[in-house]
Amino acid sequence: MTPAVRTTCPYCGVGCGVLASQKYGKVQIAGDPAHPANQGRLCSKGSALAETLGPEDRLLYPSIRGQRASWNEALTHVADGFSRIIREHGREAVAFYVSGQLLTEDYYVANKLMKGFIGTANIDTNSRLCMASAVAGHKRAFGADIVPGCYEDLELADLIVLVGSNTAWCHPILFQRIMKAREQRPNLKIVVIDPRRTPTCEIASLHLPVRAGSDVWLFAGLLSYLHEQGHIDSAFVAHHTTSASDALAVAHAQAGDIEVVARECGVDVARIREFYELFSRTECTITAFSQGVNQSSAGTDKVNSIINCHLLTGRIGKPGMGPFSVTGQPNAMGGREAGGMANMLAAHMDVTNAESQGTVQTFWNSPTIATGLGLKAVDLFEAIHDGRIKAVWIMATNPVVSLPEADRVREALERCELVVVSDCVAKTDTMAYAHVSLPAAGWGEKDGTVTNSERRISRQRAFLPPPGEAKPDWWIVCEVARRMGFGAAFDFESPRDVFVEHAALSGFRNYGTRAFDIGGLAELTRADYDALEPIQWPVFAPPRAALPKGTPRLAVNGRFYHPDGRAHFIATPPRGPANRTDDEFPLILNTGRIRDQWHTMTRTGRAPRLSDHLAEPYVDMHAQDALTAGVRSGELARVSTRWGSIVARLRTSGELARGAIFVPIHWSAANSSDARVGALVNPVVDAISGEPEFKHTPARVEPMRVEWYGALYVRDHPDSALAPDVTWWTRIRGNDFLRYEIAGREKLFSLGDAARAQREDWVRKLLGAPAKDSSYVDYEDAASGLYRAAHISGDRLVACVFLSVRPDMLPSREWLVGLLSKRRIDDNDRGGLLAGRPITSTADTGPLVCSCFRVGRATLANAIQCHGLETAAQVGERTRAGTNCGSCLPEISALLAGRRNPSKEEESSEI
Ligand code: SF4
Repeated sequence: MTPAVRTTCPYCGVGCGVLASQKYGKVQIAGDPAHPANQGRLCSKGSALAETLGPEDRLLYPSIRGQRASWNEALTHVADGFSRIIREHGREAVAFYVSGQLLTEDYYVANKLMKGFIGTANIDTNSRLCMASAVAGHKRAFGADIVPGCYEDLELADLIVLVGSNTAWCHPILFQRIMKAREQRPNLKIVVIDPRRTPTCEIASLHLPVRAGSDVWLFAGLLSYLHEQGHIDSAFVAHHTTSASDALAVAHAQAGDIEVVARECGVDVARIREFYELFSRTECTITAFSQGVNQSSAGTDKVNSIINCHLLTGRIGKPGMGPFSVTGQPNAMGGREAGGMANMLAAHMDVTNAESQGTVQTFWNSPTIATGLGLKAVDLFEAIHDGRIKAVWIMATNPVVSLPEADRVREALERCELVVVSDCVAKTDTMAYAHVSLPAAGWGEKDGTVTNSERRISRQRAFLPPPGEAKPDWWIVCEVARRMGFGAAFDFESPRDVFVEHAALSGFRNYGTRAFDIGGLAELTRADYDALEPIQWPVFAPPRAALPKGTPRLAVNGRFYHPDGRAHFIATPPRGPANRTDDEFPLILNTGRIRDQWHTMTRTGRAPRLSDHLAEPYVDMHAQDALTAGVRSGELARVSTRWGSIVARLRTSGELARGAIFVPIHWSAANSSDARVGALVNPVVDAISGEPEFKHTPARVEPMRVEWYGALYVRDHPDSALAPDVTWWTRIRGNDFLRYEIAGREKLFSLGDAARAQREDWVRKLLGAPAKDSSYVDYEDAASGLYRAAHISGDRLVACVFLSVRPDMLPSREWLVGLLSKRRIDDNDRGGLLAGRPITSTADTGPLVCSCFRVGRATLANAIQCHGLETAAQVGERTRAGTNCGSCLPEISALLAGRRNPSKEEESSEI
């Protein structure tokens, strides 16, 4: 075993420390016990990181218009292309669209090139899609983009309010820290505010299933209630804040009546009152919020309505209390620090502030400086669409999948004169539109820093060589800058050189006026940088010979960053989402993440163990709404909005109220025929933050008429082999096989002899079976509309397919995964293949719950029933489920609760 390299997980904003080592050439991953964010734990995604490595699917070489090129040719082509377009059309005709997946060093050089040397602020980031409203809310309230608290506050609080956050799935290690705190202090209360009854609700003392978009009513109502009931820290308000009376006047006028709040939120008065009373009487309260708050046309007001309540009660800057924005991506906060957004300059300075412009230009010694706001993500792609922007460089992100109105984004790139895409993945929906493709180093290969949700800067360290000719993003940007004539300012030799310049800029002419100050790290040597321990900013320059120290909490002693040193209350008049439902589109579409996938699945989609929990694109809705729409659970449904449509499997999990639907964000054209949810989302944004309204698009659901459904398992297969007979498909990666869920419109049953022969011919080709000999077995029940076939070589199952007129007549996928994984199948297995079900009852473990140990729902239910298990710990002892990463613990708790109280078990139709 090689010595472990200490690095950081590349997925969510929790920013867990990871130990990466190698044994017999295989990468081993473990949680870093010394990292303060996770203290050794990793969730299902982090635990599977080793399975996402390797050269398969990677972009290995630069190319220009699909032809392999040398790095010099490709970089020169990019530099010349950008320079020419700037010469001919001006600097506002070019743009960068970057990513929270980039390291701070990558962000820093990209921002420096665009704002200080090209001279426009047209650089925005996909973090615009997840936390721009939190940034804008922080700046309005605090005068700076600060998260005042730290993760420890979640453990010190007596009340945790989780707003718009499925913490159990999206920030699992924080959720586990909360669960552990509750185990130790059963009086810790947890309130979940979310339109969906997500797995996070398994630990909720109170769940408020508010109507999507109604949060400002709830928190303006709380502000009014706190004031009326006298729960005010008058000294704090008087000495450390301004504008309380304006905010209170609006709150009293519009949300002062709890009946009105209850009606607007769609929650009964008693529950609202219970929440208000709990908040009022609990001093140590933390309100953690995430995309459910931010992704709204009123996202910034939502954030400020939460902060207002903490300011009125003085619950901020102290242990166990405060508003807490939990970021989505691993380096969303690092990007903000480096200025990688269209409305920032660098080091948290404002792009429109003349003094800041002078400070940054002087520090960079740059020929120019951006002086106006750049285009934010949605507007930026609109400007590409209408031809104002003629060259775009997209780094480490997949906007053709992830942006709202994603079909228009595709059109925009089709029209763009020069599209440069740097990424580590060869085939993404966005890469398909690249004129120049640049191979970037991926996680495990690149070196730099990231900042997590609690302002903690951690090192990501390389432990593998990049495959092919892949290079770090900071290097690629610097090489283009050199070729554009800016060599002296981009003469960095290592990420450490970039980092110390970034740190020095944060302290330059700061004088305590800017919250983001890591000047204490500006003198790091390479050895210091390599050994840098996780540290929370600000990090001030230490006295001589002392080590730099971080800062766990900000706003201590009521100090804020507006020129008056006070926090500002913001009046937040409640308003609904921009587009309302109507007869044509009567449902509210909500989008979000699932437990085991990350973004557009370019990495997590490679790990078989992450693919089985929720394997397919789905639309979740209330069972009654499904009935009204005429679609049954497990069938395919077409989801349409005014902006586009997709096809997904219908699910009725019991998580949604009537009138709402949920579709996950992860699927793309690279892994499914028709499931990019971005195509559905309205392009409405928050007027202040520019963050899109992903949580509220009017939609409708209709049946997708198909003649048959199928499950296909093959060892290798190009997607194109499915055409033309397969109308809809999705591909799921297994260990040593590919699984396809398929459906088609052509009749497959009750056929004449010729058509039957044709069908068999098609199936044999799908399975790669050379002829209808002993290696090919099949079975047809035409009356029931069933056809099964398998290709068996020796005793090994090579491929199989199951076709049926009804999806619920197809066999258990978990059982088939088991057969595909066997080296030799036996007579029972052969019999099962033809019977379409396992011959022995234990062979079907049911839908996967625990990814780490592949424990299915049937196994768990059986263990709970047969052994009378009462707690998750007992289930873990008996089945191992939940004993590694713990991501499945909420589902295990739900199963246990279902056994204790069968009426609690909602209808569940796992896919
Ligand atoms: S919670 Fe999971 S995905 Fe997030 S950083 Fe930690 S291990 Fe990675």
